[in-house]
Amino acid sequence: MQFTRGSAVVSRSLATRSRFPAAARKHLFNRSLSTTSILREEHNAGQDVPPPKPKRFNFKTFAKVLGGATLLSIAGSLGMFIYVTQKDRHPGTQLPYDPEKKTIVILGSGWGATSLLKTLDTSEYNVVIISPKNYFLFTPLLPSVAVGTLSAKAILQPTRYLARHKARAVTVIEAEAKEIDPFNKTVTFEDDTEIKGEVSHTTIPYDYLVHAVGAEVQTFGIPGVQEKACFMKELNDAEIMQRRFKDCIESAAFPGQDDAEIDRLLHIVIVGGGPTGIEVSGEIHDFLEDDLKAWYPELAGRIRISLVEALPSVLPMFSKQLIEYTESTFKESKIDILTKTMVKEVKDRSVVLQMPDKSIQDVPCGMVVWAGGNKGRKITQDLMAKYPSAQTNRRGLVVDDHLRLAGANGSIFAIGDCTSTSYAPTAQVASQQGAYLARVFAQMAKKETLTAKLTQLEQASVTVTDPEEKAKFDSDIGTTKKLISNVKVRPFNYSHQGSLAYIGSDKAIADLPFANGNIASAGVATFLFWRSAYLSTLFSLRNRTLVANDWIITKIFGRDLSRD
Ligand code: FAD
Ligand code: MG
Repeated sequence: MQFTRGSAVVSRSLATRSRFPAAARKHLFNRSLSTTSILREEHNAGQDVPPPKPKRFNFKTFAKVLGGATLLSIAGSLGMFIYVTQKDRHPGTQLPYDPEKKTIVILGSGWGATSLLKTLDTSEYNVVIISPKNYFLFTPLLPSVAVGTLSAKAILQPTRYLARHKARAVTVIEAEAKEIDPFNKTVTFEDDTEIKGEVSHTTIPYDYLVHAVGAEVQTFGIPGVQEKACFMKELNDAEIMQRRFKDCIESAAFPGQDDAEIDRLLHIVIVGGGPTGIEVSGEIHDFLEDDLKAWYPELAGRIRISLVEALPSVLPMFSKQLIEYTESTFKESKIDILTKTMVKEVKDRSVVLQMPDKSIQDVPCGMVVWAGGNKGRKITQDLMAKYPSAQTNRRGLVVDDHLRLAGANGSIFAIGDCTSTSYAPTAQVASQQGAYLARVFAQMAKKETLTAKLTQLEQASVTVTDPEEKAKFDSDIGTTKKLISNVKVRPFNYSHQGSLAYIGSDKAIADLPFANGNIASAGVATFLFWRSAYLSTLFSLRNRTLVANDWIITKIFGRDLSRD
């Protein structure tokens, strides 16, 4: 078909050639030439040339490319891993103590203090960090340690690991601060550990003090709580809880135990419907499902978990649908939620509860885990007492919007759970405050350097007589003054990154801020997000590796049942 149509066009153009003058013919000839060449192509295309074979998927080449790329990325990641770990293990030399620089004393090695240390430019200051714990504890994963999903070491980071990587040597002291003298600017601390040297109590001066000692557990003076309940605040608490929980199970398995006693021993009461209480309940439930069913089949079905909360609802900081989701998941997991219920006493073998109808019940149980509120430590209360007119909030230290302690004239800062701000006592707030303070100190150092320069310029300009030189000095003085006035310290501004909690059965809940609203998500995908969020929040590659490794080991081999 194509060929026939083409030949007709050719014959027409040949005929045209004879009827027109030479110049016009030339023009037309050119045109017809190009037409001819197109026709030739069309002609060839029409011949019985076999169509080009469609390219076949070559699996070998694909596998080769994929294999190469995979090998390359594995080698790259491994190289990077080795580089980072070796760099971490072999810190370089640091600047020594400089008597010309101001000294910052940081009390605590928790979220606030560690975030400050991490962000602080130590080349501008001498830094001393004092804490009874020589490590940072990643509290959000503490409930996982309590049931053995993670080992304790995985969520600890020795403070020296961080301190040794700072530009200037940081003095890390394992001691408890006992007294702050804000008028003489000194802090007294003591080695409270088992082994003490000849010197175990001393006083040092500071220029700036950062009070980041966190809070202790609030027991509201309820009888028996302090002595008989397990807490969930420090590493030691998680270890005690794990030991007691396993003890309850082994004691229930003791031959001759009657039914009522087995039920008592296997009844775990968790007090506090905040994220910590919820996470502990979820983790205990996982232990039960994943491990106890296999190793104690006769007992597993008899374990009861009760979550007690004085308020009308658990997780008040989460959105309504997530609260309902958690309640229904707990119902499926057979975890009883008792809201509007108050603990009146913790006894050796039971917990006394005031029920919503105000009736009092003595509920037999094996152990009570207390995940209640916070209260100020003694050192914090003593500091408040030094400023009776400015420190009037019993919840914690009053600070201004630059985190300066009210009444202390800018030499003391307070961050985290020891303060009484409008923010919730969370790691998110404490760590943002720590990072903010590091920026404040950087600005203050900048201002001081410029002020010193200004003083020098002003002193030198007094003796200058040459008008040209004088004008240069005046210009430099003007510029420096301008630079000083540009050094501004903005107030602290909290940016909420969302709330997350693990609720057991490989499910988590998340309230995440999005645009001007909020996205509420729950379930297994949120659990994976929860895991990846915590993995990336851990402060070091070492901790990330240990936590990821423990998660894998627990998945493969289950949790350890042995009790020491
Ligand atoms: P901390 O982190 O408690 O640090 C206080 C430091 O001060 C410690 O190092 C302590 O040893 C030290 N110290 C104590 N006394 C003295 C003294 N006398 N002298 C010197 N140092 C002293 N928050 C979240 O945002 N998300 C979560 O998922 C989350 N989960 C949590 C789970 C659990 C089980 C717990 C207990 C808390 C959780 N939190 C969470 C809350 C969070 O851990 C706290 O808000 C946060 O630790 C507060 O930081 P901080 O620096 O003020 O105090
Ligand atoms: Mg000691």
